[in-house]
Amino acid sequence: MLEIGLTGGIGSGKSTVALLLVQQGAELVDADALVHELQAPGAPVFLAMVERWGPRIVGGDGTLDRGAVADIVFSDSDELRALNGIVHPAVSAEMTRRREALAATDATVILEIPLLVESGHEGLHGVVVVDVDPEVAVERLMAGRGFEEQDAHDRIGSQASRGERLALADVVIDNNGSLSDLSDEVDRCWTWIESLPRPPLDREIRPIGGRAGRG
Ligand code: ATP
Repeated sequence: MLEIGLTGGIGSGKSTVALLLVQQGAELVDADALVHELQAPGAPVFLAMVERWGPRIVGGDGTLDRGAVADIVFSDSDELRALNGIVHPAVSAEMTRRREALAATDATVILEIPLLVESGHEGLHGVVVVDVDPEVAVERLMAGRGFEEQDAHDRIGSQASRGERLALADVVIDNNGSLSDLSDEVDRCWTWIESLPRPPLDREIRPIGGRAGRG
């Protein structure tokens, strides 16, 4: 298994890039998707959160009320720490399980980790960073994802900086252009991935840091 970290700021195009890499033949482990699975009604993280904060974080349809959780942790660092203490170790453990299941194969595994700067990238064979001008990200988040402009700016401002992410990159995917330009960038990235030496199959899988997903 060859393991490549994929990261980028909010709205940079990570999921779009991940899809294109899967079309090339990669396996995807998506930290945000794992968070959502673990927070589904009855799943372990959901249960631990309800134990701590009670029914006020469950919506009328029985699913997690993310807005209610955001309201609780937004201005209270103790509550945020408690949330991170529930979510991050569970995501890290589940991510390790998925990686172990692929470890003895010759798969190319893309680990889509929004918080790669924070979680650390030791043990990965390469890091791909999707880079976009923050103004372009704001426009796309407003057009495609229904964000308010200020909210999009705030979310970008609360993340690691563009420079911090770029400092980790082995390959930078420029997503300031069209989707067709992006596809060309991903082809270039895949050519690089395929040029990497394949690691031995019996390599030990170490957990990637505890802050992989965005709670
Ligand atoms: P998040 O951090 O919220 O998970 P992301 O980094 O995974 O976001 P995407 O969801 O892939 O980003 O892209 C954000 C939005 O921008 C989506 O609506 C997507 O369709 C759109 N988008 C991505 N790349 C381009 C592009 N090159 N041209 C136009 N729209 C794009």
